[in-house]
Amino acid sequence: MDSFEKTFRLPSNGLLGGPKEVTLRAMTTKEEKIILTTRDMTVFERLIKSCCVEPKELDIGLLHENDIMFLVFALRSITFGDSYEQTITCPECGFKQDVTINISEMETNILDTDGIDEKLTCTLPVNKDTLQLKLLSTGEINKIDKLVKTRAAKGKVQDPDSYNFILKLMETIVNKNGEDFESQDEKRHYVENLNMRDLVEIQNTLSNIEFGLDNTLIRTCNKCHEDIEVAGVVCPEFFRPTK
Ligand SMILES: [Zn+2]
Repeated sequence: MDSFEKTFRLPSNGLLGGPKEVTLRAMTTKEEKIILTTRDMTVFERLIKSCCVEPKELDIGLLHENDIMFLVFALRSITFGDSYEQTITCPECGFKQDVTINISEMETNILDTDGIDEKLTCTLPVNKDTLQLKLLSTGEINKIDKLVKTRAAKGKVQDPDSYNFILKLMETIVNKNGEDFESQDEKRHYVENLNMRDLVEIQNTLSNIEFGLDNTLIRTCNKCHEDIEVAGVVCPEFFRPTK
């Protein structure tokens, strides 16, 4: 295998229909063009697709957004190496400094898909319904984002953000007490009228499913010497290292 290629196990572990692992190659001038011409978050999806060696036709839509973030760091690592500089502000004293982020220090949790349907089942505290939930793929998320954007551009949606939120919540709920909703209208009415406690229960059930790259590292402030939690992010040095 080419030394600029590496195979990575995906955090979603194939749960959403995508592969369990992918092989990426290092970025080249081809990807530079993608970086220069893409102005939104799809730049990450395009870079991954472009650098994916195996499977040959990677369907990004079948991955989870945690896979995308994991693969962006993987791509950075095989192209430029594991460490880069990031500017942070100490939350204790406000001191600004550069710290070294090392991707190899970050841990990746692979989703345990055994019994996942049970882990994604919740009984709501107020209306007592039992809901089967699912994790949304990037394909499902992108589809909703696009729909909301199109409708908002036509002036058909008053509050795009809350409409987007409702549609994603609807998509997340597979069924109620083991039965499908009769129609999308019924589901929407149900979702929009959930008691806040029930809504929080749904959100907690989803956030308990933890997997993906843990990008938080501990660094020490040079001024007050407190340990601070730093989240490694895609900063300018990430794809444009100056040293
Ligand atoms: Zn400090």
